[in-house]
Amino acid sequence: MISLKTPVSELRMIGSVFSHKLDNLDIKTIENLLNHIPRRYEDFSLKTKINLLQEGERVTVCGKITDIKNIYTKYGKKIQRAVFTDDTGSIEIIWYNQPYLVNYLKINPDIYVAGIVKTFSRKLVFESPDFEIIKSSQLHTGRLVPIYPETSGITSKWIRTRIDSLLHKLNLHIMDYLPQEIRDNYLLLSENDALNQIHFPKSFTEIERAKRRLMFDELFLFQLKTNLKKREWKNKKVKLIFETSLYMAKIRQFINELPFELTSDQNKAINEIIGDLTKNKPMNRLLEGDVGSGKTVVAAVALYLCCLNGYKGIFMAPTEILARQHFEVINNYFTKYDIKIALMTGKSKPKEKQWDIMIGTHAILYVENNYTNVGLVIIDEQQRFGVEQRIRLREKGNNPHLLTMTATPIPRTIALTLYSDLDLSTLNLMPKGRIKPKTWIVPSEKRNSAYEWIRNKITETKCQAFIVCPFIEISDSLESVKSAKEEFKKLKDTIFPLLKIGLLHGRLNPDEKNRALKNFSEGKIDILVSTPVVEVGIDIPNASIILIEGAERFGLAQLHQLRGRIGRRNQESFCLLFSESNNSMTMKRLKILQTTYSGSRLSELDLKLRGMGDMFGTKQHGLSDFKIADITDLVLIKETKEAVNKVLTNDPYLSRFPLLRGKIESDKITGIAPD
Ligand code: ADP
Ligand code: MG
Repeated sequence: MISLKTPVSELRMIGSVFSHKLDNLDIKTIENLLNHIPRRYEDFSLKTKINLLQEGERVTVCGKITDIKNIYTKYGKKIQRAVFTDDTGSIEIIWYNQPYLVNYLKINPDIYVAGIVKTFSRKLVFESPDFEIIKSSQLHTGRLVPIYPETSGITSKWIRTRIDSLLHKLNLHIMDYLPQEIRDNYLLLSENDALNQIHFPKSFTEIERAKRRLMFDELFLFQLKTNLKKREWKNKKVKLIFETSLYMAKIRQFINELPFELTSDQNKAINEIIGDLTKNKPMNRLLEGDVGSGKTVVAAVALYLCCLNGYKGIFMAPTEILARQHFEVINNYFTKYDIKIALMTGKSKPKEKQWDIMIGTHAILYVENNYTNVGLVIIDEQQRFGVEQRIRLREKGNNPHLLTMTATPIPRTIALTLYSDLDLSTLNLMPKGRIKPKTWIVPSEKRNSAYEWIRNKITETKCQAFIVCPFIEISDSLESVKSAKEEFKKLKDTIFPLLKIGLLHGRLNPDEKNRALKNFSEGKIDILVSTPVVEVGIDIPNASIILIEGAERFGLAQLHQLRGRIGRRNQESFCLLFSESNNSMTMKRLKILQTTYSGSRLSELDLKLRGMGDMFGTKQHGLSDFKIADITDLVLIKETKEAVNKVLTNDPYLSRFPLLRGKIESDKITGIAPD
């Protein structure tokens, strides 16, 4: 019997080779596969006859391949040229570099062809159309065809076939975990219908309705968990009580000796944290601050207070590079103090058992150590850590105080609603003396001169540059989007042959990632080409240029986050936004970045301008906990909050909803059990 929890590797149609590849897309179970949501749809629902075809039409035609052969070009490429015929006429089809098609289509000539009709030398043709053999149901043609996020070896076509088998051949029926009253109240589809419609929509209206249900699910479950965590947290007592008033003079002295003056926001956040630490209820505070707003020093003050109390502190970062960076920075702050600092990452284990502050990656969680004397845990870039890791951390100590830090650009109103289990401190002000990065929008005709400018700047000033591309591989759907890999090759071979170029993207293994970043931070690379996901928080002072491809695809707040990679010291820096879009609204939106430098202001503008540009979900950029829901959708956030309250008021321990319990039990939230 298969169920939603069945691993995909156990399905005969997938097996171990493909399940390994699916890992890249975070798909491990049937449930994950069914929740792999299409990125967009290709509308091939218009079926027509060959004699009615017109240039530019996007259509599906049913017919027969009546002739097909390989043709060799003078550059050694193979073209497949076919004649496709129905009862009204014939049209030519061209494919490139797929010589096996010739035999295949000779044996299976009856096909559906789906594509856009083009004109070549005044004749209508299909160029590289999709096609499928005529059988009972049409999967890849003749309908709204879903295009999924893909990975190497896993195409949308492959995914479509598997999902079709699961839903239609194996007739998997999904029992809804969402209480009926909630579904009725918010006019939601059943989960079963939503999943069927998201993969096999009959219209765009069906897609919208399915999406609404799935987004509702995500926000609902997230807030339900938050609520339960809050309940769990409320009854916790700190074992290691902090003394603060005794040490205020020392704290003040530490702050006075810093090489800079704290901003008023930093001072306020420090006071709020100290206020929390005096209580016997564990602190659970989120420090939200724009990139470069100086969160690390706030963390250092909190760690100092912890050490003054004779307790240990833990400071965790999501990547090895960030952990090392924090290790150096924190060491600098405490050179004159008798505080022992240890570094623990997958690679580096502290030599000494005795330490006051441990800095590291999740390795800290999985190494046996005595953490009973840990009074404070700080997690940097919290959105990158899973719930399970957060809980593990807490269990290691005696209910230590917890401070999480993030640069996720979400408006305060939304942060307060979504993360209602946390107290919030915000750093809005930038340190004095920062020079704002000059921001330019570069039109396509100026691309080459921009490259030349970068080349000169790097050669003359020995500065370094980031080049950010939206995707790893050129996807079928977004031909114009620069992919990091292709772009890397082009830049290396033809644009900057004399400079050293590195590549960094999410699919490299951790070692390769570290090496690329290390080479960049040590100045062995002049230009780092990367996808947007990987570099949250890294501080490479010598990098003063960032070029962003496909800028129209990002939200303003995300662009601002990327721009935060540069201008982190008091030096001139430059942000170049490249866009293939000439849409005047898009231009208007991007222009805002030339004059606005406040992350929270930009995220609020994103909220207002939503739907205006061709913006992508935040998940792509690793900035959000959500796959499909939009963290700026205040209406849905409010509705789901209300729904959660309804469920918990009537049934605090979810005893009437075992399926719902099941959804969240996997996250090991203990608040679900009666005390
Ligand atoms: P983020 O909030 O992005 O983590 P960091 O803590 O890395 O920012 O700080 C960025 C840089 O700003 C660091 O080099 C830090 O030393 C410096 N900095 C922090 N606070 C101030 C301040 N009040 N005045 C001047 N520079 C500061
Ligand atoms: Mg930081």
